[in-house]
Amino acid sequence: MAFAGWLRRAPKPDRAEVAALKDGLRAHLALGAEDEITVSEIACPACGPDAVETVALVMRRGEGTVALKSPHPLHDLASRPDLLATFGRDEALHGR
Ligand SMILES: [Zn+2]
Repeated sequence: MAFAGWLRRAPKPDRAEVAALKDGLRAHLALGAEDEITVSEIACPACGPDAVETVALVMRRGEGTVALKSPHPLHDLASRPDLLATFGRDEALHGR
């Protein structure tokens, strides 16, 4: 049902889940206290009508911003540290 699909994706990510994922990625990527990271969830029509991906923008001090993507929803990534290894460059995820 289209409306149910809209409801499922519309809410903003849970703040606690965002914080948990950022902490997990900080450890996974060995980021320092002065490095910054943001995470957000996006729809990916290229991967399917209901496909949701999570994007992490990693800003290591003194370096450019690097975008990493995972093919999993933020909710799953926040509770499954084993999924953090699925974050990679967009080319790896989409073959471009
Ligand atoms: Zn995609």
